[in-house]
Amino acid sequence: MKTHPTPVPVEQEPHHHVLWKNDFVEVIRVILPAGESTLFHTHSRDNVAVDLTRTALTFQRLNEPEGQPETATPGKISARASADRPYSHRLRNLGPGTFEAIDVEFFQRPQHPSQAGAATVVAENPSARVYEWSLAPGAATAVHAHEHPYVLLAVTPLRLKTTTADGISSSEDFKAGDWRWGNTKTRHTLANAGSAAGQIVEIEMK
Ligand SMILES: [Zn+2]
Ligand SMILES: [Zn+2]
Repeated sequence: MKTHPTPVPVEQEPHHHVLWKNDFVEVIRVILPAGESTLFHTHSRDNVAVDLTRTALTFQRLNEPEGQPETATPGKISARASADRPYSHRLRNLGPGTFEAIDVEFFQRPQHPSQAGAATVVAENPSARVYEWSLAPGAATAVHAHEHPYVLLAVTPLRLKTTTADGISSSEDFKAGDWRWGNTKTRHTLANAGSAAGQIVEIEMK
């Protein structure tokens, strides 16, 4: 029987690049060129992953056969409760594109989770809720409030105009995969100030 190598923690997997971390979260960028595989690696915390590119992938759990091909698409979201049951797997990129994703890992579950989300919840786990907006040029989200810290992520390139409740606006150009940490309670709208359709995701701690 074929034996698999010992999995590494996700941070030590060479295609997973830790961009930033604080006491609450760790933000990891995954970059896996076509034809390449990751090492077997272990996720042992709740996490939210958002795909940024389109390509075909297979997933293989440790000591299991490789799964059927799946399609990664920009904005595809997975939210897993890996703190309950750590899992180890590897990815293989069948191509044709490079696979890129942002993975946010949560260091500890909230002791006093917020009761309500800021917007329509498209995915969640015990640590976080995820909201998603596809915005045509000139379109804006509804006004919404964040009670807890969050990660704002651009799935596509976007000129994003943020307006807070006191009426102050700022605009910023995002590339696909650019993200910002929001650490203060805030009430805002997010608008697409560019000339192309754009997509954003917010990943808010519960
Ligand atoms: Zn993984
Ligand atoms: Zn928001």
